[in-house]
Amino acid sequence: MATVTPQTPLGLFGTDDLISTDDLAMRDTVRKFTEDKIKPQLADWYEAGTVPARDLAKELGSLGVLGMHLEGYGCAGTSATAYGLACMELEAGDSGLRSLVSVQGSLAMFAIWKHGSEEQKQEWLPRMAAGDAIGCFGLTEPDFGSDPAGMRTRARKDGDDWVLDGTKMWITNGSVADVAVVWAQTEDKIRGFVVPTDTPGFSAPEIKKKMSLRASVTSELVLDGVRLPESAMLPEAKGLSGPLSCLNEARYGIVFGALGAARDCLETTIAYTRDRQIFDKPLAGYQATQLKLADMTLELGKGMLLALHLGRLKDNHELRSEQVSLGKLNNVREAISIARECRTLLGANGITLEYPVMRHANNLESVLTYEGTSEVHQLVIGQAVTGEAAFR
Ligand SMILES: Cc1cc2nc3c(=O)[nH]c(=O)nc-3n(C[C@H](O)[C@H](O)[C@H](O)COP(=O)(O)OP(=O)(O)OC[C@H]3O[C@@H](n4cnc5c(N)ncnc54)[C@H](O)[C@@H]3O)c2cc1C
Repeated sequence: MATVTPQTPLGLFGTDDLISTDDLAMRDTVRKFTEDKIKPQLADWYEAGTVPARDLAKELGSLGVLGMHLEGYGCAGTSATAYGLACMELEAGDSGLRSLVSVQGSLAMFAIWKHGSEEQKQEWLPRMAAGDAIGCFGLTEPDFGSDPAGMRTRARKDGDDWVLDGTKMWITNGSVADVAVVWAQTEDKIRGFVVPTDTPGFSAPEIKKKMSLRASVTSELVLDGVRLPESAMLPEAKGLSGPLSCLNEARYGIVFGALGAARDCLETTIAYTRDRQIFDKPLAGYQATQLKLADMTLELGKGMLLALHLGRLKDNHELRSEQVSLGKLNNVREAISIARECRTLLGANGITLEYPVMRHANNLESVLTYEGTSEVHQLVIGQAVTGEAAFR
């Protein structure tokens, strides 16, 4: 029997007191959706390696989380902090669910919202906000991930048209997308193109045999003479700063999101250790267990304080990209470390899908790599504090 009433890890930090009532209400709505509609089905989706992305997009659109921090065009226009908190609740369900929302809102919709023409915005954003159209974002290629400037996908002018050729790799939502934002080399820098996925020459075979993000669609994009009108180009994005501005948005969501996965692991594990009897007493009652739980609580709370700080900066339009790197690097690295430590406390049960812990740990392997690997974010921070670029 517990000697004092237990508190949740984040309850101990009192971080809810730092969040506005509106943002808390929104967070609780997304938490309820994840608990009621998503969590009961995740183990099955994960085991099968499939996810009902179209149905989910509709539900997420009704919930108002697709492009929720954008203004106008059917988007909810919430605070950046609210968007972060939604990412956290979705990723407490599964990183795949949060990925669907990040790619839709922060990559595909944001690219059109920030860099698109009025016509492109009117055509796509309201449908995407409602979940009636799914978007993907094609930057990475088989030979160019951390260094996208080397991309081989080309867009060449043919009369008034653009013709795109190339291959993109590891593209979230690719096979289920209605529209792809594709980045390509042109004679005048890298440019973005809004590509309806039913355009002849476009195909998106799904990547199978993944051991991570199994409840998320990941695809190759093949562009074989894809002919587009001149109006398909994003007019306001020229050079690599275009796609990087979108990545910055998605990385910001991950700063919060990864903590959702970590929180779910830690809360699951605390409950498990209180229940699990070992040598005639609860596993939670051993000092070796509590040392682990205390350290994980500390890292979760510190990560949350950092996320909320970055959220405030973003809401004040003061957040810099190297500060997003601080959050992405720290919070994903700590989240994966928490997931792995929690797995040890669950013993053999920890390796099954009966508990979410190993699923989160496996997912976080992808989160560690996408949106800038940990090493790339270390280099960004290294450059910020030394003034020296060490990327090449
Ligand atoms: C599940 C999943 C979904 C994804 N979704 C998308 C998507 O929707 N759209 C999209 O465009 N991309 C997507 N990606 C791709 C992702 O962004 C890339 O995988 C990522 O940028 C890393 O590129 P890479 O895999 O080619 O690794 P590489 O760039 O080959 O890196 C390999 C290793 O080298 C290290 N490294 C790289 N540069 C340096 C350096 N200068 N110094 C030292 N070490 C270095 C890296 O940190 C890493 O450890 C996704 C990836 C995954 C796994």
